[in-house]
Amino acid sequence: MKNIAIIGAGPAGIEAASILAQQHNVTLFEKEKTPLTNIRNKALLFPDFSSADELADRLEAKLNHDNITLLAETAITDLHREGGLWMTTDDKGTKRSYEKVLIATGYQVFDATRKEELGYGIYQGVITSLDLEKMVKAGKIVNTMGDTPKQVVFLQCVGSRDEKSGNNYCSKVCCVTAVKQAIEVKRLSPATNVHLFYMDLRMWGQGFEEMYRTAQEEYDINFVRGRISEAAATYDGGIQLKAEDTLMGIPLNMNTDLLVLMVGMCPSNGTMELAKSVHIDGLYGFAQSVEEHLNDNFTKEEGLFVAGSCKRPMSVNDTIQDARAAAIAML
Ligand code: SF4
Repeated sequence: MKNIAIIGAGPAGIEAASILAQQHNVTLFEKEKTPLTNIRNKALLFPDFSSADELADRLEAKLNHDNITLLAETAITDLHREGGLWMTTDDKGTKRSYEKVLIATGYQVFDATRKEELGYGIYQGVITSLDLEKMVKAGKIVNTMGDTPKQVVFLQCVGSRDEKSGNNYCSKVCCVTAVKQAIEVKRLSPATNVHLFYMDLRMWGQGFEEMYRTAQEEYDINFVRGRISEAAATYDGGIQLKAEDTLMGIPLNMNTDLLVLMVGMCPSNGTMELAKSVHIDGLYGFAQSVEEHLNDNFTKEEGLFVAGSCKRPMSVNDTIQDARAAAIAML
């Protein structure tokens, strides 16, 4: 029986812990008060509109194991190898040693205030996909006046596929999330007009294309291939948009009650700091595995493993599968 540390109690950390605990002692470090904050911030999951809280409850139940110790509100401040073991120091100054360590520190969403021209943090009517998810969770979509919005506009690829922000990669999940959220808006508020501005729609997973068709055919959501270059406030609390329809090649001006920015996935601060400190930092600050095909959970450091969206943007489903692969590699 070995002592194993897992850093990050998201879906990857918990799923891996539940498998590793069958043979080893597992300590799970989580810097937040409670595990699974990224999942609990969501209302419904794609593509089946299942409850995010229900999945979080099922994952959290896996922590009820004698061989798992969850240390919440405990951040790792130092990780290094010494005498064939991995040594951790937490923010309370406690030092521990482990035979193996799994980094599962996950992602954070792109900081939309960096795209000043889109007005997030300046105009109330500009919100992120995370803010919209909170409205869906509360069961009500409202504009800045607290009324049902007449119009909602989604903008894809905010902070992804964007040289200006330094993130050239695709965040993989925001196309399908936008389609899911557009449907959620229509379900909660059928009279609201919904437009979705995209560069191209990446419906890569099972059931995604069907969801996209449903969005057009059943919910009358208007998909526009185009970009929004600027947002400004109107006198009545709405948002005026300067846009371009890149399919038709024409400039557009339009007003909306809400502009929803589909913010991409970035490595969390914890991922960037930790990956750098143990020399496994890769592209854009994500943690780097040895290679994607056969050794995607190994790192170049002995006894140090990686799982989930600390490596690259991943769906919840992919994250859980990746955590299972990591646990098998570590057994
Ligand atoms: S998933 Fe879609 S919205 Fe997200 S970065 Fe890729 S193309 Fe853009």
